[in-house]
Amino acid sequence: MATIDPLPPLRQVINDHGLSARKSLGQNFLLDLNLTAKIARQAGDLTGADVLEIGPGPGGLTRGLLASGARRVLAVEKDSRCIPALQQIADAYPGRLEIIEGDALSIDPLSRLTPPIRIAANLPYNIGTELLVRWLTPKAWPPFWESLTLMFQREVAQRIVAQPGSKAYGRLALLAQWRCDARIVLDLPPQAFTPPPKVSSAVVHLTALTEPRFPADPAILSRVVATAFNQRRKMLRASLRGLAPDVEDRLNAVGIAPTSRAEEIGLEQFCALARQFE
Ligand code: SAM
Repeated sequence: MATIDPLPPLRQVINDHGLSARKSLGQNFLLDLNLTAKIARQAGDLTGADVLEIGPGPGGLTRGLLASGARRVLAVEKDSRCIPALQQIADAYPGRLEIIEGDALSIDPLSRLTPPIRIAANLPYNIGTELLVRWLTPKAWPPFWESLTLMFQREVAQRIVAQPGSKAYGRLALLAQWRCDARIVLDLPPQAFTPPPKVSSAVVHLTALTEPRFPADPAILSRVVATAFNQRRKMLRASLRGLAPDVEDRLNAVGIAPTSRAEEIGLEQFCALARQFE
């Protein structure tokens, strides 16, 4: 096992602290420090940046982030059993790791972070999409973070980077690609984790653009897209009828055939359609 720092190997950390994986917390740990260092490198230049990590668990990725030179890591972990293991890492990197025990869905860590801020996480799968949508839909843009480097089930990763015409294309792709560059940077088989999950995983790297690619009101765009994909097999004139009685006229006005389906429509056209509802 690689030694990127003087701390014990992760298998030993897990034994020492009794960290048997809990399914209810989405615990599939990364124990190969070479791999966690590689994921940390995908997050870009971390020197001079604060990193928010959700779900550090026994701290494999945390150690990768610190070894990659992150100025500070703020780690939010729900499982109290992991805190002593994380404290050992904090002791090895004085002043660079702050641990918050709590639920990432109800904690607002912003006041404890100093820009530039990057987010990196091997996310608990049960809350991964919800956190991503929150990070992609803040009230103001640009957001508080510069980049997101996140592990997802491969199927979710594909939904984030999907292009029109594919089955994976939908709300997540449009929300992500409207104001970010998004790409899959690493594929991981189930065996990379302990215990192995049932499905493959992938790391997605998203960089926040300073401006949206096309103008649109975020709330309206989000509503139009959600409504269109709610009934993705239907023609848009039917799926969007609830938004306005004259939806066919509005579709025609921006050059979208009312008989087309949501998955055929690109980001630029969705933004144009959203502007019709302003
Ligand atoms: N980052 C570690 C690694 O790569 O080995 C652990 C990843 S594991 C997939 C997900 C982690 O998120 C677990 O440590 C779990 O306890 C934690 N977790 C689950 N739900 C959480 C929540 N709502 N808030 C914060 N952490 C959570």
